[in-house]
Amino acid sequence: MITTAIFPGRYVQGNDAIHLLGEELSRLGQKALVMMGPVIFPKLQPIVEKFTQGKIEVYLERFGGECCDPEIEHMVALGKAQNVDMIVGIGGGKTIDTAKATAHHLQLPAAIVPTIASTDAPCSALAVIYTPEGVWERYLILPRNPDLVLVDTNIIARAPVRFLVAGMGDALATWFEAEDCQIKRAKNMTGRMGPMTAFNLAHLCYETLLEYGVHAKIACEQDVVTPALERIVEANTLLSGLGFESGGLAAAHAIHNGFTILEETKKFWHGEKVAFGLLAMLILTDRPSQVIDRVFGFCESVGLPTTLADIGLDGISDDRLLLAAQRACGVGETIYNEPCEITPESVLAALCTADAEGRRRHA
Ligand SMILES: [Zn+2]
Repeated sequence: MITTAIFPGRYVQGNDAIHLLGEELSRLGQKALVMMGPVIFPKLQPIVEKFTQGKIEVYLERFGGECCDPEIEHMVALGKAQNVDMIVGIGGGKTIDTAKATAHHLQLPAAIVPTIASTDAPCSALAVIYTPEGVWERYLILPRNPDLVLVDTNIIARAPVRFLVAGMGDALATWFEAEDCQIKRAKNMTGRMGPMTAFNLAHLCYETLLEYGVHAKIACEQDVVTPALERIVEANTLLSGLGFESGGLAAAHAIHNGFTILEETKKFWHGEKVAFGLLAMLILTDRPSQVIDRVFGFCESVGLPTTLADIGLDGISDDRLLLAAQRACGVGETIYNEPCEITPESVLAALCTADAEGRRRHA
């Protein structure tokens, strides 16, 4: 049995870690194309300039807002024109993925500075490509992980708490998807089975969420860094990243991909849709009621979606929900990593049941 795990080259995390940006980037090259999310651009521009000055040269570019082919082509052209020797992405999941895809096309090192802990995108060798309109299009599997991931927990603590909670939703699915891949002996994102390291990291991710999730959320609401917040940022970013990539994905992410074809879910975050996808997955895969109860309880305790209404789908018809279920069961989807029979109808049944259970608990 050949197993494979993949990791980012270097992971730096802590309060004011951005102060180390120039020092860390100088390991990778001399001139960086730095793409930054539009919302944080004005606030972080002087900070990036201050902490890279005298260490490396930077060319700053505002990210357009969608990780799509035209945006990546624009960044590739800019990187060539500026003759840079590394690509840096500072922002949320889409900025990060665009930076990784750009670095890949230019065959340059990639450094990632997530400003929110909302997904497990920072550490992975994967970019999720959407259409310019924001519909999930394809996974771009990259030959290597980012060379550097630098996470400033002070920046993350000051971001809206909804991002941290969405990240917990994404991280919550990690263990269950990895567990099913382990049972099925399914392939992880490298196309081979994961080693025990990946499954144990995925499980540590789940345990960390249950133990520290609520207190990390409280700290984030106060805009402060506490040990619990540090643990959750690490769980959302590093453990979930390693866990999904080297453990494997299954139904929760496939159901998320199905939701993206429904316009009503567009204003909800990746991790929020993944969380509801996980609740449906637990029902689809016949988890014990004790496990289902604990995961619903965790979602309620931190404010993750537990009903279709919570992701914008109140009153949706079965016909339209079936469209999402069919998309979740598309050719090549990770839902086939589940060790059970999968049909659009069985996914639809799980979605309706998860929703009804969420509503029952609300009432
Ligand atoms: Zn995810």
